[in-house]
Amino acid sequence: MFLRQFVNNNNAAVVEMSRADFLKANLRLILAWPLLGVALCAVLWTATMLQLEAEKKVAQQQALDSVSSQSKAYGQYLLRTLEQMDQLTLQLKYEWENSRGHLRLDQLKTQGMYALPQFAIVAILDRKGQAVTATAPLTRLRTNERSDFLLRHWRSNSSALRIALGRANEAAPAATATGIDETLVHFTRRLEDEDGNFDGVLLISIHSSYFSEFYDSVNFGKLGMSAMVGEEGELFSTRLGARVLPVHAGQGTAFLDTSFLETDSGAMESGSRVAFSDKQNRYVGWQALKAYPFTAVVGFADSEMLHPYQETRTIYMGIAFAVTLLLLAFTVIATVLSLRLAWRHHQSEGVRNAYRMATEGTSDGFFIISALRGDDGGIVDFEIVDCNEPGAGYFGVRREQLLGMRLQSRAHEPYFRDLIHNYRAAMVSGFSEEEIELPDGNPFKLRWIRRRLVRSGDRLAVTLQDISTAKEHERDLRRLANEDGLTGLPNRYWLQQFLPGALARAAITRHMLALLFIDLDGFKDINDTQGHAEGDKVLRAASLRLKAVLRPGDHVVRLGGDEFVVVLDPVEDDSRAEQVAQRIAIAFDEPFYLGSERHKMGASIGISLYPRDGAETEVLLKNADIAMYAVKVAGKGHHRFFQPELFETIRSRRELEQSLVAALEQDQFLVVYQPRVDAMSGQLCSMEALVRWRHPQHGMVPPLEFIPVAESSGLISQLGEVVIEKVCQQMAHWQASGLELVPVSINVSARQFGRGDVHQVLASALARHRIDARLIEVEITESAMMDEQNRAVEQLSAIRALGVRLLVDDFGTGYSSLSQLQKFAMDGLKIDRAFTMELGRSEQGEVFVRAILSMAHALGMSVVAEGVETREQLDILRALQCNEVQGYFISRPVPAEQMQVLMRKRFLIPLPVPVSPPYSPVQGEENNTVS
Ligand code: C2E
Ligand code: CA
Ligand code: CA
Repeated sequence: MFLRQFVNNNNAAVVEMSRADFLKANLRLILAWPLLGVALCAVLWTATMLQLEAEKKVAQQQALDSVSSQSKAYGQYLLRTLEQMDQLTLQLKYEWENSRGHLRLDQLKTQGMYALPQFAIVAILDRKGQAVTATAPLTRLRTNERSDFLLRHWRSNSSALRIALGRANEAAPAATATGIDETLVHFTRRLEDEDGNFDGVLLISIHSSYFSEFYDSVNFGKLGMSAMVGEEGELFSTRLGARVLPVHAGQGTAFLDTSFLETDSGAMESGSRVAFSDKQNRYVGWQALKAYPFTAVVGFADSEMLHPYQETRTIYMGIAFAVTLLLLAFTVIATVLSLRLAWRHHQSEGVRNAYRMATEGTSDGFFIISALRGDDGGIVDFEIVDCNEPGAGYFGVRREQLLGMRLQSRAHEPYFRDLIHNYRAAMVSGFSEEEIELPDGNPFKLRWIRRRLVRSGDRLAVTLQDISTAKEHERDLRRLANEDGLTGLPNRYWLQQFLPGALARAAITRHMLALLFIDLDGFKDINDTQGHAEGDKVLRAASLRLKAVLRPGDHVVRLGGDEFVVVLDPVEDDSRAEQVAQRIAIAFDEPFYLGSERHKMGASIGISLYPRDGAETEVLLKNADIAMYAVKVAGKGHHRFFQPELFETIRSRRELEQSLVAALEQDQFLVVYQPRVDAMSGQLCSMEALVRWRHPQHGMVPPLEFIPVAESSGLISQLGEVVIEKVCQQMAHWQASGLELVPVSINVSARQFGRGDVHQVLASALARHRIDARLIEVEITESAMMDEQNRAVEQLSAIRALGVRLLVDDFGTGYSSLSQLQKFAMDGLKIDRAFTMELGRSEQGEVFVRAILSMAHALGMSVVAEGVETREQLDILRALQCNEVQGYFISRPVPAEQMQVLMRKRFLIPLPVPVSPPYSPVQGEENNTVS
């Protein structure tokens, strides 16, 4: 689809852009055919014209020859005729002279002589011009004509024949063509008597038309003419076609202007020199008669003479025109066809170029594959007809090397065998697209390609795309999603994908599966004290240890932080899971080394079993987690199986833990203060800071409900910081209010020493609020000092070095002896409430307190008695010389504002006998407390 669109778009662009350019580029082509046509026409017409010219010349020459010979023939004819007339007149003269005037011409005519139509008049005229004898009356002769003959023959002694043209008869106009009244030609001879004197004239008048009898319609046609021209150029006889023309033109011009007759004979084409009154052009030939002063003129009409030529010419021209038209048509068709062909070629070339140009820009390979068909029409092979450079690049060759390649030629390679198969399939389906992981030994240097095949007619447009990187990336992403980046172990996401399937398989094969939820003990401390980079090292080392104890089919997953899950699939019973748990414990016995430092880090393991402890992933995970938590609460470093009864208690603890986190974030803690007074003077000498949690729903939560959770979850450090900060802030405030400060003791949990920064927190808080270190005391329980020995010793001496006094809290509840405490260099100790309670009740209580007091004093430590609730207890403690007393009898723990009142009051125990019950502020505090 993309490909098709792409080609179309480019096609349109290319075509639009280059239509004008195309015409310009193909100007030669556009002109070639017309030029060729014109050239051919020119040749044709030149040849035709030359041929016609030649033929015309021949025709003209023939015409000239013809008129020439006809004029000669006519000349012969005239000559003969005139000779006859000569003889006739001569003969008649003799006959007349011999007859001595007795010859009767009229009688001769009746006898048939001179009866031919040409003879108009035959007559003998006497000296006076009177007709002696005649074949016809002389009325047709005009008087002056007659006298003209007489005069001329009288004057001249010559007996030679005279020929003269009769004058036009006014009575009978020349225009008449009847031939009867036409002009006559007079032949006359002088008659003489014996003495040789003029004796009259012999006259024979011949119709002038007689001299034009030389005529044949074949040669003369309708417009052919002949003329007998006299010495003076006068016409004696003219004929036009079959018609005899009058010699005298009357008022009009003569039929023929004879001025051209300068030579005896010749032939020419009429025109400038010869003019006919009928405006007809003619070929004219003429021949002068030798014996008589006449010229025979013959003219054949151009149109008739050249008629055959004209016909030929018409045919020639017709043919030439037809050929020209054919050539024209051919030229137009050829131009259009070749332009169309060129345009189509240009278009397809343009499309192909654009296609290639566009595709060269990408890294995708494009191929045009042509299907080659056999005789039966089936596809026998495929040929690469086009491709772009990247496409060739995929094969590691240049484009030219690939063009024309037949796939069958490489069918021995598996890749091409498959390719042919795919192409065949695409030729049927019209489209295919697939992502292919290339096998080894493929012709590409790639791993993954996407191949698209689009059929178009008998061709396939093939797009190859290198998707190796994308695939790699995809794989990385999949791995990243499933893998923990730090340890390379599968992650929680993987577990969530994996477990349901594993459980389903277990359900089918009815085998058991164990989840071991592992939390590293003390990892947070390492992370906090050594830094995250070191923490990461430990996690990596821990993950290796976990892997080392497992069978190949088992899985270790890092859930996050220091939490891991081991999946044992399958397990036969509890014991196998237990074994693994033990092996893990052993693996973690070995300390971790960070540089030169050794770090002991145990593992708390909770185990849940499928199907016993749950059928679903989440349930099994949660139960293993609860079991692990139970281990943590119980003191870490062990493993235990999930038990349903664990569930409720653990869950509430976990919830409490979560709300503690929120409480810290939302500053829901506050500090109350309980006074400690000097047992002898009853004066306020110090006070204990006690934390309270003002829970938004549950009101005041007493410390005993949340301190253990804060300790086990590690939140105690943060809480301890909050308390230190609030106490110092409060003291600074009191100081600023001008109150005389007394030392404040702060409870520090054993877990806080684990992190090792109590003394820094203290130091910085004191410095920030400008509190004298001697005004701060730290209470540590006995167990705290025993638990984390090394760490506590260091921390305690550091704290002491600040100038802070150290008190042993809840003394007597543990198993430590005073001598043991001595090494901690404690400044004092607080006798636990349980012992104070015994005072006045049993002898033993008093004995115990007395012993403590004497030993403490011997060691230079002061002693505080906690939980003093009665006057009696107070009195006993005084008697035993206890240094300080603290308890409800003096005051309950009170908010800071009320403590302020007590501070001003100073004397809190009315001596010798207390007169009033505990103070109202104290009660107020307790009212707020949830018990
Ligand atoms: P503790 O350090 O032994 O604190 C003395 C506890 O005895 C206080 O309880 C106090 O209210 C109570 N008390 C004082 N006089 C009398 C009395 O005459 N009769 C009776 N029945 N009780 C009396 P509280 O405030 O509930 O504290 C409980 C424990 O919580 C403390 O025991 C201490 O271990 C811990 N705690 C309190 N505040 C903090 C703190 O800021 N940090 C740490 N780490 N622990 C604290
Ligand atoms: Ca305390
Ligand atoms: Ca205590």
